[in-house]
This record gives sequence, C-alpha cells and structure tokens, in this order.
Amino acid sequence: MKPPFQSLVEIHHKELLNLWENSVEVFSTLQPVLKQHSDDIVTGFYQRLLKHPQAKEFLTTEVINQRLRQGIKAWLSFTFYGPHTQTSQEFLEFQERLGRIHAEMDIPLTLFLLGLRMLKQEIIQVLMELEESKRLSAVSYVDALIDLILAIIAESYNEEHGDMISELQRMRMSIPPENLQLVCEQMRNKLLMWFTHQLSAMHQRTAKRSKGNSVVPLRESEIGLWLEHKAPLLFPENQTLDTLVQACEEIDSLLEQTRQQSQQQNEEEYTETIALLEELVKRADWLLCELAREISEIEGRKDPLTHLFNRRHLATVLNFESRKSRYTHKQYAILLIDLDHFKAVNDRYGHDIGDQVLKRFAELLSEKVRTSDFVFRYGGEEFLVLLPAVQEATAMLVAEKIRKIVEATPLAVPSDGAVQLTVSCGVALSAGELNYERTIKRADQALYQAKLEGRNRVVLALPPR
Ligand code: GH3
Ligand code: MG
Ligand code: MG
Repeated sequence: MKPPFQSLVEIHHKELLNLWENSVEVFSTLQPVLKQHSDDIVTGFYQRLLKHPQAKEFLTTEVINQRLRQGIKAWLSFTFYGPHTQTSQEFLEFQERLGRIHAEMDIPLTLFLLGLRMLKQEIIQVLMELEESKRLSAVSYVDALIDLILAIIAESYNEEHGDMISELQRMRMSIPPENLQLVCEQMRNKLLMWFTHQLSAMHQRTAKRSKGNSVVPLRESEIGLWLEHKAPLLFPENQTLDTLVQACEEIDSLLEQTRQQSQQQNEEEYTETIALLEELVKRADWLLCELAREISEIEGRKDPLTHLFNRRHLATVLNFESRKSRYTHKQYAILLIDLDHFKAVNDRYGHDIGDQVLKRFAELLSEKVRTSDFVFRYGGEEFLVLLPAVQEATAMLVAEKIRKIVEATPLAVPSDGAVQLTVSCGVALSAGELNYERTIKRADQALYQAKLEGRNRVVLALPPR
C-alpha cells in the first residue's frame, strides 16, 4: 500500500511532467546544439571546477580524462533528450542514482551541487549562441530542469546519508555500553602512556641537543587509528568526537613544530612547549571522559530490568523512521505487545518471578526480531517493537511468530511448575502519518481489540481514516 500523502518524489514527478509538457518545441533545438558542443561544455566545466580548492581533493586530471568526461557526456545526452526517449520514472531514477553514487563516494553534497551549477552555466553559455527566437525558451528550460535535478539529487543524498546514520545507530545500539565505556578508559590509558613516552623522548633530545628518535605522532598511534577507523562507527555524528579529533591534530602539529625547532630551543621555550602540550593532552583526556559519560547517559535511557530502550528513547527513533519512510515510500510497522493476565503471575508466584518473566520475554523478543528492528519497554508488561521498512504481511508474520513462540516457551520455571503465558498484539502500519503517535494509537486500539476478542491473538489496526 502506498502512503496516502504527496511525497517529494511525487512532487518531482509532477514538476518534470509539467516541464516536459510545456517545453515540447525546445527538444528539437537543444539536442543538436548540445551534441555539437558537448566537448566544449565538458572542458569548460572542468576548467571551472578545478579552480575550486575543494574539488581538487577529489579530481585529478587523469580521473577526469579517463572516466568523467564520458560520464558527463552521457549525462548531457540522457538529461536533455526529453520524453520521447525515456519515461519520467526512468529520468528520476537516473538522477537519483547519480546522487546516491556520489554520496557513496563521499563527495560532499555542496561540491556536487556546485558542480551541477557550473555545468548549468556552461550549457547556458553555449545556448546564448542560439538565434533569439529559440534562445529564451531553451535557456529557461535548461535552468528549470537543472534546478529540479538539484532538488532530486539533494534528496537522494539525504536518503543515502539517512541510511548510513540509521545503520550506524543500530550498530551502536547492539554494542554493550559497558564495552564502549571500557574502550574509552583504555584509550585514556594509551593516551597517558603515549604522552609519557613523548616526554621522555623530548627530554633525551634536548639533553643531547640532537634530533634523536621521536615517538610516533598521535595520528599514527593506536589512538589515532582508533579515532580514524572505529570511533566514527561507535559514535556517529558526535560533536565530542569531532572535538577530540581536532585536539589530537593540534597535539601533533605542536610536536611537529617543536621537533623542527628543537635545535634552537632554549630551556624556557622548551618548558613552555611542554606546558602547552600537557594542556592539550589533558583536554584530549577530558574529551575521552566526556565520551564515556555520554555513553552512560544513553544507558540511562534504558530500562534497568530488561535492558531495552524505554519510552523516552522512542521519540528519537520514531521521528527518524517516520521522516525516512516519507521519502523512501517504505512503511514501518509498530507492534504493541502486552502479556496476558500478567497480574496473576505476580499474585501467584511473587514479584521476583514476575520480574524474571519480563526479563526473559524481553530477551525472547530481541532474539526474534531482526537486528535492524527496535524493541522498547513501553510500560509495565507492555512492549513496543518497531519494524522499519516492512509490508503488512511481514509485520503480521513477525507478530504471529512472537505470539506462537511465547505460547510454547515457559518464561520462568519456579519450583512448583513453569510459567506459561500468552501475549496479545496490536499491529499498525505507518501509512504515511507524519505524527508517529497516531500510528501507536492505532496499534493500541488493535491491542485492545485483541484483548476483547479473548487474548492470545494478533489484530491488525485499521488504516487511518
Ligand atoms: P491483561 O491480559 O488485560 O493485560 O491483564 P494483566 O493482568 O496483564 O494486566 P493488568 O494491567 O491488570 O496488570 C499488569 C500487571 O503488571 C500489574 C503490575 O503490577 C504488573 N507489573 C508492571 N510492571 C511490573 C514489573 O516491573 N515487574 C513485575 N513483577 N510486575 C509488573
Ligand atoms: Mg497485560
Ligand atoms: Mg498492560
């Protein structure tokens, strides 16, 4: 089922069809002139682009000559051939793919958009040579079409990036927080050891007044490697981590400076450098502490009994997923699961056994869903499972699988027999609602219905009215 709202993709679609419809006379003008001047356009474009400092990082003349020239020519002919050679769907998918490929290559969006604007300028320059009667319509068509492409590409970058963030968030959620804290502590120790070595190497150097052996710079040490390769996965989009990386770069550049000056440095300068270095290392150490503190803050959002995320964390995840489902057109499902007659367990076996049951049920739930799904403790004996990017049938299947497994598995084994329970479950699909709370509400109504109908069952919520 397609969400009943107008997504950005649909808006782009309409805009494109509109543009094509109103520009029929332009196609026959554009094609020959673009074909004839494609070499000039590409050459002019790269000349402009390479003047930009950020672009130089990504482009070498060799790369341009070997691969990109042909790529841009193909893009030019595909993009401006118009509706008689392609459907609007193909056109949009082609441009989206282009955005995603560049996003995967880590080309910054700003650079990519800058490139497109430069390309537009080159094309328009060529079109200025057209006779006056054709010029205006051709230029305004190219202008509008490239603006549309800019929007499509910006959106597909977003999507690519969104995918990455959510993947990383999931990774992070699946790593036990104690381990992350331990890693931060280890890094603090390593930093201290590195600093001690560095001090003694500097001391020897000054004593002998020679360049001597120096300790590896921070960026080449284990800390540097960790910061570059692993930490970004463990702490995605984290300001503290960015500041820490900067602090380490400052330490390295100070060391490099002092190494070059070591021959001429006097005692006073040396003491000053050491003091400054100490300050910087202290700061990096503090930032590592701060990272560890942030982890315990996240842990604070978890429910101490089941170790699942509690309700407070729900908003972050659901806001993210509902935004994502808006532009991917993929729905998410919410399963609200409530243990049946749970009060009777407490009454018969006591609160501790009740707790054990909740714990075991939480483990069972986490085992039975995909790692990309999210499980929350929603209330006392009520749990919420979020399944991103699923269809109705799959969501119902997952819910039914959970119901069956609970029915068949004792959740605790006190001395006088096993605790065998059942669950009721309400399932709601997002259906394009921007407000995820409405989806939860529908799941809640379905859960209520399941209880009314006799419990131990799964009920699918009605779509929103
Ligand atoms: P229903 O099938 O209608 O859901 O019946 P129920 O007995 O499961 O529901 P009810 O809402 O009447 O009772 C829920 C019980 O869950 C009451 C409460 O004491 C218990 N409970 C909530 N949180 C915890 C907890 O953390 N540990 C334990 N042991 N019990 C809890
Ligand atoms: Mg209950
Ligand atoms: Mg309940």
